[in-house]
Amino acid sequence: MARKEDCIFCKIVAREIPAFVLFESESGLAFLDVNPLSDGHLLLVPRDHYERLSEVPPPIAAELAEAIPCLGRALLAATKAEGFNVLLNEGAVAGQVVPHVHFHLIPRKSGDGLGYRWNAGAYQTGRAEEIAAAYKKAMPDI
Ligand code: 5GP
Ligand code: ZN
Repeated sequence: MARKEDCIFCKIVAREIPAFVLFESESGLAFLDVNPLSDGHLLLVPRDHYERLSEVPPPIAAELAEAIPCLGRALLAATKAEGFNVLLNEGAVAGQVVPHVHFHLIPRKSGDGLGYRWNAGAYQTGRAEEIAAAYKKAMPDI
């Protein structure tokens, strides 16, 4: 099992520091975020230490993703939320603070005051084609 000595989430996985662990599978586990954005805010992490989602082997990523609908149903039932956000911050630029990859599942209720800026733009002529071509070049194996 790949772990990083000074990683807080590796320590939670190893049960060396306490957390409210609510789900476990072969590849991952989910526990309550200690500083929740709303009651029931969950973190879903792989057991192995990977800093970023883009480094996670596909079978592990698949097993984690497979758990999300079931965790979401439990979240809705347990918290009486009306919905939830699934969020993953990849890299400090995107807001990642703990460098062990984790999905956030954040319960949402009307008027909860949570949210983020969604400054939608528009492509100038030809730019979408350029970006699409760059994507195609970057993922020849998909
Ligand atoms: P990030 O900004 O990296 O996407 O989110 C890190 C999350 O981990 C934060 O929401 C923070 O509250 C949570 N967190 C940080 N340290 C601990 C801890 O020791 N235990 C638990 N349960 N959550 C933690
Ligand atoms: Zn770790």
